[in-house]
Amino acid sequence: MSNESELRVLNPATEEVVATVPAATARDVDEAVVRAGRAQTRWAALAPADRARLLRRFAAEVDAHLEELARLEVREAGHTLGNARWEAGNVRDLLDYASGGVERLLGRQIPVPGGLDVTLLEPLGVVGVIAPWNFPMPIAAWGTAPALAAGNAVILKPAETTPLTALRLAELALEAGLPEHLFQVLPGAGPVAGDALVRHPSVAKIVFTGSTAVGKSVLATGSALLKRVTLELGGKSPNIVFADADVEAAAAAAPMSFLDNSGQDCCARTRILVQRSVHDRFLELLAPAVASVVVGDPADERTQMGPLISAAQRERVRSYVDADAPGIRGKAPEGPGFWFAPTVLTGVDPGARVAVEEVFGPVAVVLPFEDEADAVRLANATDYGLSGSIWTRDVGRALRVSGAVRAGNLSVNSHSSVRYWTPFGGFKQSGIGRELGPDALTAFTETKNVFISTEGPAQ
Ligand code: NAD
Repeated sequence: MSNESELRVLNPATEEVVATVPAATARDVDEAVVRAGRAQTRWAALAPADRARLLRRFAAEVDAHLEELARLEVREAGHTLGNARWEAGNVRDLLDYASGGVERLLGRQIPVPGGLDVTLLEPLGVVGVIAPWNFPMPIAAWGTAPALAAGNAVILKPAETTPLTALRLAELALEAGLPEHLFQVLPGAGPVAGDALVRHPSVAKIVFTGSTAVGKSVLATGSALLKRVTLELGGKSPNIVFADADVEAAAAAAPMSFLDNSGQDCCARTRILVQRSVHDRFLELLAPAVASVVVGDPADERTQMGPLISAAQRERVRSYVDADAPGIRGKAPEGPGFWFAPTVLTGVDPGARVAVEEVFGPVAVVLPFEDEADAVRLANATDYGLSGSIWTRDVGRALRVSGAVRAGNLSVNSHSSVRYWTPFGGFKQSGIGRELGPDALTAFTETKNVFISTEGPAQ
């Protein structure tokens, strides 16, 4: 167990201790904010080309250490090696993409009488990034890369269970030549270090990714200071399969749409909605597809699904699944490690907890629907609105349903939802604000309007 002064990082596949890391206190946060403020002033004063160059160097350092970072993520988070390599590569790409924005962070010139009116996009100052454990590296970088590119300093608080890759990234930033204290990582308990960051008057913005419950409390605390807050929260996303779809392709793609990262994915398609006329056929195809998913040692190149992050998370997932509930079960290793077998439940009441709450484990439900209107009604029948998929060969239907589903990230005939160069974020209880995409840097600026009179001084 972790205690107040230190965090114990466990390998979720073996339950062995990987490392022990000091936990930051509120005082550590105070001191870090002062250091960050000084570093930010110097950073913002650098020529844009120099800031861009340093960020590209940071990206190159990450690339040079990609395998090391990936292997560290396998050990601390139980991610499969293939995923972990992609995640480290994603950090590199985010930094490269953000570096391209430094010299393109354009204000406007607006026509006015009697002078010149321009808008300036100024950095906010010190930004706090609070990250969850499910994708420690990419989610840390979603906030950090554009915030730095826009001229801010960043203090990153990683999740209690996964501080190691974040700490390594901070070292790589220094090796790349980023100014000291510009990007600081403070591992610590959420209610201590995280809360101190949210309450700190000199932290201008909090980028929070995590559960809806904690996100709401961060927003409430931050509101007392009118703090800028973006929230990337939970999801319970639909995978809608119409009878006119390529049902074989939909069934083949369905397992990894909710088993990737052991279902610990805010975009997991855990509500599989299937038109009644193809429902039985879909299940016949889904069963062997689920059984064929390779679950095991995440460090093995062939593994597709690893363990859950912790014993507590496994208990939470178990609480949603009756051992004798009807459905499809895959296999998982026995013995040490936080394993849970792939699970698809059938015959579930659409209002049941498992059908509407975020399980954050390898568990999906299959619900039949009658027609397009019924599909949209079911798809929208959760508090969340993060992502979703629509399988159909009818282009008009794909567009109608994309318009009707209340979610921020939809994909048609695929399960793609996150690209660093397209916007990402949630409707409803899934969040506030957008990250990534062409406007990512602007979200870390304040717009200042300046009018310059062309009238000469009064004679
Ligand atoms: P969590 O809310 O428990 O913790 C997230 C982070 O907040 C951690 O760093 C934690 O230490 C910190 N925290 C906890 N209490 C705090 C407090 N009082 N003040 C400030 N910080 C505090 O979430 P989790 O269990 O780590 O992550 C899983 C959740 O994240 C899921 O609900 C998932 O859907 C969500 N998520 C969302 C996205 C997205 O982009 N929408 C992406 C990934 C994960």
